[in-house]
Amino acid sequence: MQSLELKEDLHTPRVAYFSMEIALDSQLPTYSGGLGVLAGDMMRSAADLALPVVGVTLVSRAGYFRQEITEGGRQVEHPSPWNPAQHAHALPAKVAVSIDGRDVWIMAWLYRLQGEGDGRIPVLLLDADLPENSEEDRRITHFLYGGDPEYRLKQEIVLGIGGVRMLRALGFTVSRYHLNEGHAALLCLELLRSGAHGSTAPVRAQCAFTTHTPVEAGHDKFPYELLRRLLGPDADTELLRRLGGEQHFNMTQFALNLSGYVNGVAKSHAEVSRRMFPGFRVHAISNGVHPRTWTSPAFRQLYDRHFPDWKLEPEALMRIGLVDAESIWAAHEQARHALFALVRERCGVSLQEGALTLCFARRMTGYKRPDLLFTDLARLRSIARRYPLQLVIAGKAHPRDTDGKRLIEMVHACLGDLREDIRGAFIPDYTMEIAGLMTAGADVWLNTPLPPLEASGTSGMKAAFNGVPSLSVLDGWWMEGCIEGVTGWAIGTENEVAAPQEHARLLYEKLGDVVLPLFFHDRAGWVEVMKGTIGHNAVLFNSHRTMRRYAAEAYLRS
Ligand SMILES: *Cc1c(COP(=O)(O)O)cnc(C)c1O
Repeated sequence: MQSLELKEDLHTPRVAYFSMEIALDSQLPTYSGGLGVLAGDMMRSAADLALPVVGVTLVSRAGYFRQEITEGGRQVEHPSPWNPAQHAHALPAKVAVSIDGRDVWIMAWLYRLQGEGDGRIPVLLLDADLPENSEEDRRITHFLYGGDPEYRLKQEIVLGIGGVRMLRALGFTVSRYHLNEGHAALLCLELLRSGAHGSTAPVRAQCAFTTHTPVEAGHDKFPYELLRRLLGPDADTELLRRLGGEQHFNMTQFALNLSGYVNGVAKSHAEVSRRMFPGFRVHAISNGVHPRTWTSPAFRQLYDRHFPDWKLEPEALMRIGLVDAESIWAAHEQARHALFALVRERCGVSLQEGALTLCFARRMTGYKRPDLLFTDLARLRSIARRYPLQLVIAGKAHPRDTDGKRLIEMVHACLGDLREDIRGAFIPDYTMEIAGLMTAGADVWLNTPLPPLEASGTSGMKAAFNGVPSLSVLDGWWMEGCIEGVTGWAIGTENEVAAPQEHARLLYEKLGDVVLPLFFHDRAGWVEVMKGTIGHNAVLFNSHRTMRRYAAEAYLRS
């Protein structure tokens, strides 16, 4: 069947990019955080570069969640429903997958991503909320990362198996399948069963797999009883065990065994992954962020004036040295004021003109260590007495991450304690929109993960597009992006396993002795660092470069 809406998309074979979450628009809650935003940036670059790609994801009608922060700093989760009919077209195909002995019917919504030029790509949003299905099955595609392992496995059956069937039903010819994280790995099972007749070589030839985290909880594992029950008699347990592991069915291991190309998301992460999965060849294609999406209006205007092609060719920004310091600082002032306005509106806090604004925003979870900055409040106060400092913080904790929620409460309490000496705000409900305002409006972007657990990190790359230097522990992308004093500053040195107390001490030292003095005593030197972040890091850590490398190294390989 070929629908009219897709006519132009079916002419050329496409790379099918499968991801549990894709951030299509800040307002559509089809993403939870970094993984989904990265997937969205990859799709935006594919559209800009007019690459033949089709995105496949779940519709997540009930969204992830809207975060409220109570007076006491507790996170409260609210549903965040959206109506796909207002943003996408219903396509006329339906396919069924067998789950727990029932046929579950799936339809797809077509979301069009328009690129810079004529390029645009289709993204399919899979939806099981159909009258043909039982009440329970209709909810399978409602909650992003919601529910128990059984619910998650049902979602992964819809994404992997349902996604492949949907592409076929709509008439797509697929040249490569890209598994953005292990959630989509059951697509390999569908390819094994249909066409490959159980032989792995033809599947491996078609699949590329990107692993995104060394954190154990990020790798889905399911008991074989559950797999057998949900997949039914189709599940060849012998084969699944051979490819997915003896004890549990491990989605990552299954993906590794069935993908001819495997990569990590930064050089250091690829190295860590090689140690985690011995015997597999793990390539490194470092992440990047989408140029236009993550550049503030003021910097867009500045770049448009000096480097008209930068949106398609961000390499042009290597000549940022040609732009006068006043223009750079003026663009940054505009972005700061936009952030100040947001903080006033959302938190009722007026930030100070004459202070350095230090921002930290990311998923609130143990290894990201949002509490590191608050290790020694007396020390932080004494730094702020010498140099005015203010803090803006944001981030959601996964509803079941009790440690992450405790960290939000703790950060909230510390901001309260510091109020007399350091202005601060916690902006609730971190979204792409807030990320854009924060990464552009910060004077310095802070990152304090526990190495080696930050696979890449992308928010510092967003900051780079806005001339905002990072102050970060050397982990993930920063091991490639940091040139000390040129693109920002490192907390600690490479390969050292510093105790948290030690990292905190190094953070205070660098902040109080290097970063703040430069900001307050040498504005010309500061703007040079701003230019360094643009001229070195925006040029490299953008999703056009990432996508082109995927095209050349993962998609075109024979
Ligand atoms: C960029 C982004 C992230 C990821 O930031 P990291 O630095 O990789 O932790 C998470 N959430 C939102 C909304 C983002 O825009």
